[in-house]
Amino acid sequence: MEELHKRDITYLRGIDRKKAETLKNEINIYTFEDLLYYFPYKYLDRSRIYAVSEINGDLPYIQLKGRILSFDILGEGHTRRLIGRFTDGTGVIDLVWFKGIVYTRNKYVLGKEYIVFGKPSEFGQSYNIVHPEIDPGENAHQVAAGLMPFYNTTEKMKKSFLNSRAIQNFQYMLLNILEWKVNEILPAALLARTQLVSLSEAMRNIHFPESPKALQAARLRLKFDELFFIQLHILLSAGTRKQKSKGMLCPVVGSLFHTFYKEHLPFALTDAQKRVIKEIRADMGSGKQMNRLLQGDVGSGKTLVALFSMLIAIDNGYQTCMMAPTEILARQHYSTVANFLGDMSDVRIALLVGSTSKRERNQILPAVASGDIDILIGTHALIENSVVFSSLGLAIIDEQHRFGVEQRAQLWKKNDIPPHVLVMTATPIPRTLAMTLYGDLDVSVIDQLPPGRKPVKTIHRYDTGKARLYEFLRKEISAGRQVYVVYPLIEESEKLDYKYLEEGYALFREIFPEYTVCMVHGRMKAAEKEAEMKKFVSGEAHILMATTVIEVGVNVPNASVMVIESAERFGLSQLHQLRGRVGRGAEQSYCILVSSYKLSADTRRRLEIMVSTNNGFEIAEADLRMRGHGDLDGTRQSGIGLNLKIADLASDGQILQYARDMAASILADDENLERDENKMLRERINVLFSRKTNWGIIS
Ligand code: ADP
Ligand code: MG
Repeated sequence: MEELHKRDITYLRGIDRKKAETLKNEINIYTFEDLLYYFPYKYLDRSRIYAVSEINGDLPYIQLKGRILSFDILGEGHTRRLIGRFTDGTGVIDLVWFKGIVYTRNKYVLGKEYIVFGKPSEFGQSYNIVHPEIDPGENAHQVAAGLMPFYNTTEKMKKSFLNSRAIQNFQYMLLNILEWKVNEILPAALLARTQLVSLSEAMRNIHFPESPKALQAARLRLKFDELFFIQLHILLSAGTRKQKSKGMLCPVVGSLFHTFYKEHLPFALTDAQKRVIKEIRADMGSGKQMNRLLQGDVGSGKTLVALFSMLIAIDNGYQTCMMAPTEILARQHYSTVANFLGDMSDVRIALLVGSTSKRERNQILPAVASGDIDILIGTHALIENSVVFSSLGLAIIDEQHRFGVEQRAQLWKKNDIPPHVLVMTATPIPRTLAMTLYGDLDVSVIDQLPPGRKPVKTIHRYDTGKARLYEFLRKEISAGRQVYVVYPLIEESEKLDYKYLEEGYALFREIFPEYTVCMVHGRMKAAEKEAEMKKFVSGEAHILMATTVIEVGVNVPNASVMVIESAERFGLSQLHQLRGRVGRGAEQSYCILVSSYKLSADTRRRLEIMVSTNNGFEIAEADLRMRGHGDLDGTRQSGIGLNLKIADLASDGQILQYARDMAASILADDENLERDENKMLRERINVLFSRKTNWGIIS
């Protein structure tokens, strides 16, 4: 059978319209291929038959071989049940049914040999098995063959008799129709090189494993396939784009760059900053469009790297822009850049945000259009149609995950030739995820903090120890420091026992009458927010109480304490982002996680991870492992659903790397997959990705 992906699932015997409808709606199975790629989520070992006398409280699913001695119906109403007394000669155990009582009693014959499969549970002094699966004893060789697959099913599926066993039967029928062969999708040379098993063998063993070893080989093959085709597709699109996208040529490292480096830089660059600037310089000088993701933990000095990149573009006669997700941040970038540049007045910079007045706008926009502005810093306002550059050479996007894909794309519609793009993010995305999501962006990492920083000390405290906390804050403030206090929610919620920002604000003003306390939250008007923020940035306020609006990018080096109330309500990467607000000056900084005493195991683990490490990548990895990649902060908002069927980004990093290397090596010899032996790869990519997002244009 040639085209499994075109063969409708209703061609399979036993799948009528209604069942097909359920399979489509519930688990996205439309075709033979979809079914084949619906893999079991676990397997149970049915190679062993237990004796009733062996049963104890710790056993998982087991199987027994014996006879039913008698049936009794006991109880009334919802406790009404059928009890079958079952024995194998070593002891007696009860089989229990609450449903299908009459049907069951008529179906099974007393004294006949059966294989019983189920999970024994303790019941008073003895054990029973509720709703066991029962097969005739003469089928023992079939059911006891080894590893039994379990398929995920939903409640709706079960109502249509589409349970795991039914799916297993469909797989069996399908593989029979295919004569247990599936057309190979990898070229012979690649199979030989990787030593992976054939697709036929993999499919056979993923659904009906011959042995644990065969199953393992099947899983490896199918994980490889899944990751390999994603990588091949990404690299292929990246290749195509690189050929197509000529970039603004920036070959010169000119006078602005040198002047700034030699005369204005207030400190030495870290080695990591130097390395990244070199990478950017090479990109911008290559004649091709740069598309680079710059990852660096909070406080690692990305802004300075951005400034150097802008100077390269300006030295080569281009304009640059830098887009930040909030007005506060845009203003901060503006003043940071202005401060760094100092008296370098030949670099002309401007700020454009939502609240920029019409009068100012009328000055800025024409200056941008005529090329009189070299650096335009701002918010979303930058992508409005009224903003026209004379020659935009470089667009920098800060805190990328706040922007949608579309918004980013808007920026390079502003030119005939797309500008170089540098996307900066402080959300450390684990390498495996970055490779999968941004496979076509080059990635630079600043993996080093500027010298002299003392790592932030993180402490976990319970609500009950507040008096000590206040004492500590008083001590820090009297030593000249400032304090952040962050709350998860502003409004009261009856269901959840939150600490409330507004209550906290009133309380803190009472406890610290001698100090100035200010407050910022998402419900405030922009101007009000700005004013409160300014109090803190200028040092006038000692304590800033806020919801998570301060999460992103605010830089107040004198703030050395971050108190996070109801820390159990925050995700790991959010906690890490918040912690990054302190530890920016030379003083010892602290992050104090305040939680209630009652914590779930997961939450406790999260807080422990925070206390044990400052490394953003370690935290992101842990986050990935605990939450699954679908839910990771950065990806949720990027709108890219990663629907992996078998590979797991958290644990299959090595396979991913290997798959990527193989994909790259094939493209190195045949960059458009035009050779005969690679045509099958092209075709497969078309099948896999034609209906889905075009990964190539995601950046
Ligand atoms: P990020 O944006 O990566 O979180 P910033 O660019 O805001 O970090 O930098 C944090 C602080 O570190 C700023 O005050 C910046 O001036 C300072 N900084 C950056 N690079 C260095 C360096 N090489 N040496 C010392 N301080 C630096
Ligand atoms: Mg920053």
